[in-house]
Amino acid sequence: MSSNRTFTMLKPDSVEKRNIGAILEKITASGFRIVAMKLTQLTRSDAQAFYAIHSERPFFPELVDYMTSGPIVAAILEKNNAVEDFRTLIGATNPAEAAEGTIRNMYADSISQNAIHGSDSNENALLEGAFHFSEREMF
Ligand code: UDP
Ligand code: MG
Repeated sequence: MSSNRTFTMLKPDSVEKRNIGAILEKITASGFRIVAMKLTQLTRSDAQAFYAIHSERPFFPELVDYMTSGPIVAAILEKNNAVEDFRTLIGATNPAEAAEGTIRNMYADSISQNAIHGSDSNENALLEGAFHFSEREMF
């Protein structure tokens, strides 16, 4: 996976609230091409590994509970400057601080249940994409 790709998860609250269609429409209308996509559910060890960098933070147990509470949509997306442009599209971690029109501004309820994940670097985009998809599932 090259540096024009990023990785996203539509988190359990987005699936539960039936916001998958609206959020994917916003993503594709913003110029991202879907390279790979699936409905799946994280195990506790998946979530603990995915968010290992936050393992010492007070919100970690709640984060793992939330991310394993139901299915997610995992996807690899492609666009020039994908990582940075996608972080701009999703908005700040806390939806109360997310800019008008961003996905978290429109669809997130709280700093913990914040609708969507976006990779924070090209390196993490590669690792996170490879965690969920094999080469033959990438188009
Ligand atoms: N999170 C939380 N409380 C916080 C900060 C983060 O529950 O005070 C959760 C939230 O779901 C967030 C995830 O942990 O998306 C990862 O945090 P990070 O700081 O990496 O935010 P992101 O990169 O998702 O914007
Ligand atoms: Mg992050």
